[in-house]
Amino acid sequence: MGDKFIGRERAPESIAAAPDCCGDEGTCMPGTAAAVDLPRIERAVREILIAVGEDPDREGLQETPARVGRMYAEMFAGLRQDPREHTRKFFREDYDEVVLVRDISFCSMCEHHLLPFIGRAHVAYIPKGKVIGLSKIARVVEVISRRPQVQERMTEEIANLLVAELDAKGVAVVVEASHSCMTIRGVKKPGSSMVTSAMKGLFRSNLSTRAEVMQLIYGDRR
Ligand SMILES: [Zn+2]
Repeated sequence: MGDKFIGRERAPESIAAAPDCCGDEGTCMPGTAAAVDLPRIERAVREILIAVGEDPDREGLQETPARVGRMYAEMFAGLRQDPREHTRKFFREDYDEVVLVRDISFCSMCEHHLLPFIGRAHVAYIPKGKVIGLSKIARVVEVISRRPQVQERMTEEIANLLVAELDAKGVAVVVEASHSCMTIRGVKKPGSSMVTSAMKGLFRSNLSTRAEVMQLIYGDRR
């Protein structure tokens, strides 16, 4: 199952080699432009503006399509990155208790509405000889969140990747987020949040280990 997710990590060749991919220095995003067809996004945004009844040529909107193009390149930068880059460097340690990185903030994009969902991820693992730098875990969250996502899959992807790469005894991922597709449109429920979790290995099989990590995440704030 982990392999299935890992198979998705690389952007398909067709994206990287988009035929009319922007080669224009003026509009390209450094480091990301090769894979993102900015002029195509700009044309699409212009079409959207016309479709909703706006004049894309009025002063305030003239730069908007280009700006939105750069924004999408940034929001979806994770499509062109492999999160495993950040798990390659590890240290040998005998420590075999819970390691938890709490409150990793992220901003992802709901793939159903292309609206942001913003929240925090808590990532824990129990090492089996291999530990990685804490910032690397935050990097993994960053790469996986910067894609068109649903929160459930994002949570699973982070957990499966760490299971596969760290060979840990257990991995627990809890993600909480506010979805703007639910707060600003549709049922319009500001303040609501969604919580998802993925428990692997010992966190799944051992109830007291699971209770311990939930206590570490939430214990002093509920
Ligand atoms: Zn949505």
